[in-house]
Parts: sequence; structure tokens; C-alpha cells
Amino acid sequence: MTEVAWNPLYGAPVYPAERYAALARRIGAILKTDNDVLLVQAEAVVALEAVATSLARPGLSALNVVTSPYGSWFGQWLRRGGADVIDLVAQPGRPIEAGAIAVALDANPAVSVLALVHAESASGILNPLPQIVALAAARGILTIVDAVASVGGHALDVDALGIDIAVIGPQKALGGPAGISALSVSRRAWELILHDEAPHDSILSLADLKAWADAGGALPGTPAPLEFFALEAALDRVEAEGLGQIVARHERAASASRAGLAALGASLWVPGEHASNLVTAVSPPSGIEASSITGFAAALGIDLSPGVGTGSSHLVRLNHTGPRANFQSVLANVAAYGAALRRAGLPANIDAASEAVVRIYSS
Ligand SMILES: *Cc1c(COP(=O)(O)O)cnc(C)c1O
Repeated sequence: MTEVAWNPLYGAPVYPAERYAALARRIGAILKTDNDVLLVQAEAVVALEAVATSLARPGLSALNVVTSPYGSWFGQWLRRGGADVIDLVAQPGRPIEAGAIAVALDANPAVSVLALVHAESASGILNPLPQIVALAAARGILTIVDAVASVGGHALDVDALGIDIAVIGPQKALGGPAGISALSVSRRAWELILHDEAPHDSILSLADLKAWADAGGALPGTPAPLEFFALEAALDRVEAEGLGQIVARHERAASASRAGLAALGASLWVPGEHASNLVTAVSPPSGIEASSITGFAAALGIDLSPGVGTGSSHLVRLNHTGPRANFQSVLANVAAYGAALRRAGLPANIDAASEAVVRIYSS
């Protein structure tokens, strides 16, 4: 037999069952909610699909805001379950306007569920969540928020806003593991979910997850211990830094990125008040393709990426999420973007851009 070197992962201990409830409580504190918090043993897209699958049924009418592929998927999952879904599609790569939501809700009085993404890492936009949730609340409409990208990057106060279901993942601004996700569910949302034809015996069944949680905080199947230890470590780090401080770190990274790009004469895709704090999207000038900017940056070891989704592929995204929401990443991103322009023979004042980034980080 071939000798295999010893590896600590071979002996990963079982995650202690009594600690799931504590994890859920700590996530509830991050979301600022007293609602039930469920853990899902999969990346956040699975938690989103579970929400849509568990809510959908014939006769349910939903307004589904689409600002990226995540929103399109959510609408498809609802339709698959027989729901009537009105997709409200924003201008490509732009946030939805609260006014458009008000018009759609007035035109569709049967709507009882509204779904949207808070901040988009695909295009770097921020939807006006407080205004939208207030519009829904005034009409007694249940709200579902994909806060996977925004949690830790933006203020997210689930109970104060009255969000019925918020879905998060630790892998973006919180800098945690990607193989696990969580959601909060209000009492009102449970009333809608727990109906006679609700899906059961399915990994996408929130009713099943609730039954497991109510029975003592355990999860169905064999929980993957490494993910839970990693989540616990991420929560330790989040609590040590402080959620307010993490959001402030993302705000600073976003304003420094915007200031640096503005000093390069770059054209920001959305103004600051409509921009997410996670990534900054820029529309390259004519004369250079997004792919040649990202390729040039990659050769410098800097990971700039193209926009994702309709109307976003011409964009370049500067990522300042999670561990990248810091001075060195922001400065390197901006300098690499400027260097790519200069290489293409376009003007780029990298001195001024660096100065602008430094100024934000020194104030
Ligand atoms: C990242 C992200 C998700 C989850 O995607 P993963 O495949 O789990 O990384 C869902 N919604 C939004 C808005 C996201 O940014």
C-alpha cells in the first residue's frame, strides 16, 4: 500500500450538535432579528431555491424584482411551483427604482409576496431596500430579500425594516465559508409556508428544516463538520471586529475605489448612492475592451472581473468584498485599472488616483 502523509482533515471531529442553536442565534444577531434562523448545508443559491420552492403554489401571486441572474432564477423557481410571477426587470445593470415598485404593486393588487436582491455583486448596484420594504409592508405584502452579497457590507436591520425572509451566505462581506448559508423566517412567512401541500421530504423544504430545528437544533442528513467549524471561526472574527466596523470598512473601500477611479477620469457605472459597497463597476472608455483590462490586471496578479448578466458584460468590477475591503486591495485595483488604460495609450493619472485613495484612507 502507498504511504499517504498524515493530514489533520482525515480526523475532522463531528461538529457538536448542541452548537447549531448558538450559531443560529449569532446569525440572528448579525441580521438584527428575533425571527427563526435556519441553517442550510449548501451555498446560498440552494437556500434561495428552497425559499422559492417552499413558498410557491398555484394561486400565489408574486412580484419578483430582477436586477441580476439571481432574480431571474428566483422567478423561475416560483413559476416552477405554479405561482403567478410578475418579473419587474430593472434597466440592465441598474438598481430598481422604488417608484417602479409602487406602480407595479398598484397595478397588481393580488400580489402577496415581493422578492428582491439587496446589493448585487454582479453589477455593483444597491437597490433601495428600506423604501421597497416599506411599500410592501404598507400593503401587507410578504418580503423576501437576497442579502447574500449585502450582509456585512451594508446596514441590514431585518426586524426594524420588517423583512419576512432574509437569505445570507457567509462567503462575501463576512469572509466566511461558502458551503453553508442561512435564512431568517418571520411568523407571517411561516404561516404562508406551512400549508397542506407544502413540499416535504426534500432538501428544498423549509418545513422539514423547521421540524429538524424545532426538534433540538440538529440538521437533516450528516452535517459537514468542517463547514460548521469554519462558520464558527468566521463568526468569531466578525464579532471580534464588530459588524458596524465591517460595514464601515466596506463603505470606506467603496468610497476610496470611487475616488481613485474618478481621479483616473473613469466613468462610474452608478452614482455612489446607488452603488454597492462590495464591488465598484466602471464602464471602460472606448478604445479598450473590458477583457483586455482584466487580462492586463491578471498578469499583475490583480483580480479585476467583468460584469455578470445582461447589460453588465462591458463593465469592469473592482472587488472590495470581505478580506479585500482594505487599503492594499483598493489601491492595487485602482492602480491596475489605470495601468491597463495607460498601456492601451489612454490617459490615466495614476499618481492622482493613488493620492485620492490615500486621502480617503487617511481621513
Ligand atoms: C453571491 C450571491 C449569491 C450566492 O451565490 P453563491 O453561488 O452561493 O456564491 C446569491 N445572491 C447574490 C445577490 C449574490 O451576490
